[in-house]
Amino acid sequence: MPCFLAALLFLLISAQIVFAQALIEAREMRIAGDAARVRLLLHFDQKPEADWFLLRSPHRLVIDLPETRFLFPTDQASPRGLVGEVRYGQLGEGRSRVILSFSGPFAVEAIDVMANSEEAEGYRLVVDVVAADETSFEKALASQLARSRKAQAELASRGDRLAKGRPQADKRFTIVIDPGHGGIDGGAEGRNGTSEKVVTLAFGLELRNALVETGLFDVHMTREKDDFLRLDERVRYARQVGADLLLSIHADSIRLRDFRGATVYTLSEKASDPEAAATAIRENMADEQAGILIENETRQVTDILADLIRRETHAFSIQFARSLVGELSQTVEMVSNPLRSAGFRVLTAPDVPSVLLELGYLSNPEDEALLRDPEWRRKAVEHIVSAVRLFAEAKMAAGG
Ligand SMILES: [Zn+2]
Repeated sequence: MPCFLAALLFLLISAQIVFAQALIEAREMRIAGDAARVRLLLHFDQKPEADWFLLRSPHRLVIDLPETRFLFPTDQASPRGLVGEVRYGQLGEGRSRVILSFSGPFAVEAIDVMANSEEAEGYRLVVDVVAADETSFEKALASQLARSRKAQAELASRGDRLAKGRPQADKRFTIVIDPGHGGIDGGAEGRNGTSEKVVTLAFGLELRNALVETGLFDVHMTREKDDFLRLDERVRYARQVGADLLLSIHADSIRLRDFRGATVYTLSEKASDPEAAATAIRENMADEQAGILIENETRQVTDILADLIRRETHAFSIQFARSLVGELSQTVEMVSNPLRSAGFRVLTAPDVPSVLLELGYLSNPEDEALLRDPEWRRKAVEHIVSAVRLFAEAKMAAGG
């Protein structure tokens, strides 16, 4: 090929890459209406490819978008009329999502993308929704099923990107840090506005640096920025990098304001206590919060659980959890009986010892302040590194 043609081709490809990387910007959100009818307007700088579907309990409208920067002030997304809650954020893999929760059944009259008039540039997404009865909502759900299936198939194929990268033969002890939540799923919210997904990521990155510094481990993270990942993607990732340990980091929130301290969880079919059961339910809601259908999966998870607890993996998980409690309790306030168990979906890798650490309760102002304190985090990280070291030595000695 003549040189100038190759150069031209290169330019064209580069231009295309640059074009693909330019994020769409959502610059303004307007919600107007009452308990009978609502219109949502979302203004974009470029034309968005929008797709949508319905979810029940609660009644929701999910709008999928290409990766979008949401630049409007959060108060523009305040609930109004029929709309009880508006959530939006990244879904990972170049996608974003807006979820509208409604106070009852509704019908979508229209969802359109229109070019603005000549004096105002850009495009607007217009969503018109009216209140409806349960029967018509269920009918609409049924007719949307094909669309949801397509979305699910896309999500399933997303998982395949993780299939690359086989673990090497002589690898070092490998730990996967899993900062809980992310993207559209913010997790728990502190009384002073601390978001769980921000705390877990900050803590996870600090823990990674400390583990890497020892020079003893290969350290991976399920996410390094504000990305959404499904729970099963986190599990799959740990398995695909051949992890020797998965540590999922969280910071829960509950109604009991005085409740505080760290808790270490392992997987069990039957929860160790009612609080552990409630925590697992809250944490397992992460996918649901992001508008992802997880129906029909409950039974499957129960079967996996029954099988898992018979395996060696489970014994290793408990071994690490014990060591973690022993180390952490030297400096970190723990709940009473800090070693607990329940059916956490993120802990279901059959061949990767997995432990979930709730660093504290964002619902407790003292815990919230500690989680934001770099000095507290440094100490906690130090003790987790010791626990990982002890566990790695023991597991390697056991030939695991
Ligand atoms: Zn959480």
